[in-house]
Amino acid sequence: RNLSKTYYRGGQAIHVLEGVDLDIDHSEFLALMGPSGSGKSTLLNLIAGIDKPSGGTIEIRGVNIANLNEAQLADWRASNVGFIFQFYNLMPVLTAFENVELPLLLTNLTRSQRKAHVQAALEMVKLGDRMDHYPNELSGGQQQRVAIARALVTDPTLIVADEPTGDLDRHTAEEVLDLLDQLQRDLGKTIIMVTHDPKAAARAGRMVHLEKGVLVPEVGIDDVRKPAEQL
Ligand code: ATP
Ligand code: MG
Repeated sequence: RNLSKTYYRGGQAIHVLEGVDLDIDHSEFLALMGPSGSGKSTLLNLIAGIDKPSGGTIEIRGVNIANLNEAQLADWRASNVGFIFQFYNLMPVLTAFENVELPLLLTNLTRSQRKAHVQAALEMVKLGDRMDHYPNELSGGQQQRVAIARALVTDPTLIVADEPTGDLDRHTAEEVLDLLDQLQRDLGKTIIMVTHDPKAAARAGRMVHLEKGVLVPEVGIDDVRKPAEQL
């Protein structure tokens, strides 16, 4: 509600978001589009509690996360949000298993409980046979699937993905989108995905468009595919 974000740098104020209002349903798959620099990652990071807004409220399941202090926010993130990034952000010195286990090290699960969760998550992304592989022994699509397993291993309600298919070819991108779709349909996750790719956005249930710091009225996916002069 009325979300704003201003960065201050070298005495200059950069107004990135100005009065953004957005409602997202539980178990919705939402695509967030907009030109480079329009503030998509900024908005996603605010919703995921990675960054704090300059103004406005972010109410998620009854909690205004804009009011939480750093420690509370870190706790909230650890149990409520899974993250997927364009370049996977896996730790190169850890195996697939160890990468997926990382978020669980912050919980009080026992070692054998952690193992069961990690195996289930890696099997869900069809990498049960690659658990001992290091990231550089996996393809890009497989690395992104490890990242998806890491995002879901804590069973968060919300999964945020910042250009999750931006570094993948069409076929591999579709596989990753199939997985996101499955997380929403079968596990009831709420997914917010930033993307530049209209085909990826079309896989979401709804699309919103950010332009110069504000959400512009929704346009149909078909309108996005049309050349600008036909709009
Ligand atoms: P892209 O599609 O290229 O990823 P984006 O829509 O995700 O772009 P953001 O990363 O949210 O855009 O950035 C929006 C604006 O905020 C940009 O002008 C950027 O320079 C500025 N910005 C982002 N982070 C910071 C920061 N930490 N400090 C100062 N300015 C920032
Ligand atoms: Mg971005």
